[in-house]
Amino acid sequence: MSDCLFCKMASGEIEPDIVYQDDDVVAFRDVNPQAPTHVLVIPRRHISTINDLQPADAELVGKLFLAAQKVAEQDGIAGPGYRTVMNCNAEAGQTVFHVHLHVLGGRAMGWPPG
Ligand code: AMP
Ligand code: ZN
Repeated sequence: MSDCLFCKMASGEIEPDIVYQDDDVVAFRDVNPQAPTHVLVIPRRHISTINDLQPADAELVGKLFLAAQKVAEQDGIAGPGYRTVMNCNAEAGQTVFHVHLHVLGGRAMGWPPG
């Protein structure tokens, strides 16, 4: 999608602070971090929300989590712990409509989320 911010990041039209990438996913630091580590893992291909995922996307969704695992290891938060979050639509707080897995860590997290 030509007007999608995260598609532009995946294509390199906009250059985020990339911490991991492969053929299918890109991981970059959130511009407004909510924790010492706050990385967003996105599929290169545009998918707007969790509601738009198809059965054929199952492997791709798994790859988002495997990238999160790598990012956590790189940032030294795999052992201490971290949180992954994917917001879907307005009530969850989704603001960018290209699916992204938040990887947050480096501080203690509260539960439940507000
Ligand atoms: P969400 O609210 O779940 O849709 O998350 C969107 C995230 O994208 C927020 O945490 C924003 O801070 C982040 N974000 C928005 N614009 C940028 C950008 N240009 N570079 C990096 N992260 C961004
Ligand atoms: Zn997109």
